[in-house]
Amino acid sequence: MKITCDNCKESFELKKLKQRSLGDEIQETYYNCPNCNKEYRVCITNKSIRELQNKIEQKKLIIRIETKKGCKNIKEVFELENLIKKHKKKMDKLNNRKRRVGSKQV
Ligand SMILES: [Zn+2]
Repeated sequence: MKITCDNCKESFELKKLKQRSLGDEIQETYYNCPNCNKEYRVCITNKSIRELQNKIEQKKLIIRIETKKGCKNIKEVFELENLIKKHKKKMDKLNNRKRRVGSKQV
């Protein structure tokens, strides 16, 4: 993924995201511009969001295996869609995506 830094206008390839704990079981995913070192937040997650993410990955795996076997697992697909919706809602709420990007810009 190619990214242009807002600060120094340098383009760079985003290779690795960094993670750190913000306390209270909240984790921040971010990256730095390799040129000027400006920090960009990707998202923050909390414990329940990470649990949902795990569930989503598990469901995806089950569906992949079942599909390989030739089964169409409608119930699992339906559950996966619900999990993804729930996950998106929580992420939007935690990351303030509906409103402007929080006042604490990094
Ligand atoms: Zn930069």
